[in-house]
Amino acid sequence: MKKRIALLGATGSIGDSALSVVAHFPGRFEIVSMSAGSNLEKLLPAIAAHRPKVVSVRTREDAARLRQEFPGLSVGFGSQGLVDVATLPEADVVLGGIVGSVGLAPAYEAVKLGKTLALANKETLVVAGEPLMAAARASGAAVLPVDSEHCALHQVLRAGTHAEVKRLVLTASGGPFRTRDFATFPAITVDDALRHPTWKMGPKITIDSATMMNKGLEVIEARWLFDVPGRKIDVVLHPQSIVHSMVEYVDGSVLAQMSPNDMRFPILYALTYPDRIPTPLEGLDLTSLGRLEFFPMEPTRYPAVGLAYAALETGGSAPAVLNAANEIAVQAFLDRRIPYPAIVEMVARVLGRHRVVGVTSVADALEADAWARREAAAILPLLETSPRAATAPAFPA
Ligand code: MG
Repeated sequence: MKKRIALLGATGSIGDSALSVVAHFPGRFEIVSMSAGSNLEKLLPAIAAHRPKVVSVRTREDAARLRQEFPGLSVGFGSQGLVDVATLPEADVVLGGIVGSVGLAPAYEAVKLGKTLALANKETLVVAGEPLMAAARASGAAVLPVDSEHCALHQVLRAGTHAEVKRLVLTASGGPFRTRDFATFPAITVDDALRHPTWKMGPKITIDSATMMNKGLEVIEARWLFDVPGRKIDVVLHPQSIVHSMVEYVDGSVLAQMSPNDMRFPILYALTYPDRIPTPLEGLDLTSLGRLEFFPMEPTRYPAVGLAYAALETGGSAPAVLNAANEIAVQAFLDRRIPYPAIVEMVARVLGRHRVVGVTSVADALEADAWARREAAAILPLLETSPRAATAPAFPA
C-alpha cells in the first residue's frame, strides 16, 4: 500500500527534499495534496509531476490561475486552503514543511483526525505544544519529527525507556558567527547571516540558526515531542553537523545518530517509520571527514537560547510569544529595517511586557501569538536602523 502524503510547503526547502524523496520511491509514496505560498513557477511543475488531487496557495488570484492551468484540480487558498490540504480524507501522512505559526491550524486539524503528522515546522510545537500533543493522544495520531535533531533523538530513544533517559543533548552548528568578534555584531548584514556553514535552508530558519533562536525553539520542540523537561535538555556546539543529537542514558551511555546533513534522510525516516528502507542517497564517510568537534555553547554569544529556556520554564503563553516576536523580528531584519542584535532584543522586550496566561487550546495559543505580533510591530520603530541602511534593497521573496 502506498503511503499517501499531504505536503504543506511544497515549494520551500523541505518541500524540495520531500518531492525528491517521493520521486525516488514512486511505488511507495504518493502526493495527494500540496500547499505552496506564491511561488507558482516552482509549484506548476510540481503539480504536473505529482498530480495531487487538492492544492492550496496563498491568494485567491493564484488559485484562479491554477484552476485555469489544471482543469479538474481542486484548488483552495488562504488558511482554509491549508486546512483542506491537511485534512483530505485520502491523506495518511501530513508532512508539515511550512515556516512559522501559520502551520499550526492545518497540523492541529490533521492530528485531530488521527493522521500521522511528520513535522518539520517546529513553530507549531513551540506555539501550541500542549494542545497539539493532547489532541494526538486523544486521536491516536503519531507526531514524528522531521527536524534533523529531533529525528536523531527519535531514533536514539528507541534504545531505552523514557525512565532510563538522563538527558537529551541537541547539537548545534553554532551558525556563521560562532567565532566572530562580538564587537562587530552590529555590523552583521543580511548576506552574512544567510551564509550558513553546513545546511542549505530557507531564509527564516537560516537567520534563526545564526542567532541560535532555532536551537532555543528546538529545545521547546523536544520538550513536547519527547515529554522531557527543559532542565534535562542540553545544547552542545558541533560545527560539522554530522552528529544530529544524542541521548545520555542513566547508565552513562551516550547514543548518537549520524548521517550526512541532507534533509532527505530525516524525511525518509519519518515517512517510512517504523521501518528502514535502503536509500540511494550517499552515506557517511567518517574517514574522509576526519574529525568531529564539540564545544560548549557560550550563553552570552547566543542570548536567544537563554530566552527560549526561560520561556519554556515559564510555560503557558510565553513560548508562543517568544516565537511570534521572533518571526516579526527576523522578517524586519531580512527587510533591513533592524540591525542584527535587535532581533533578540525585540524578542526580549516583547517577552518582558507579556503577562503570561495558560495555553490549553489552539485558540489560546493563537491569541498569544497575535498579541506578540502587535507588540513587536509597536516596538519595531524603536529598534530601526539608520535611514541609509533602511533604504537598502529588500530581501527578494
Ligand atoms: Mg534542526
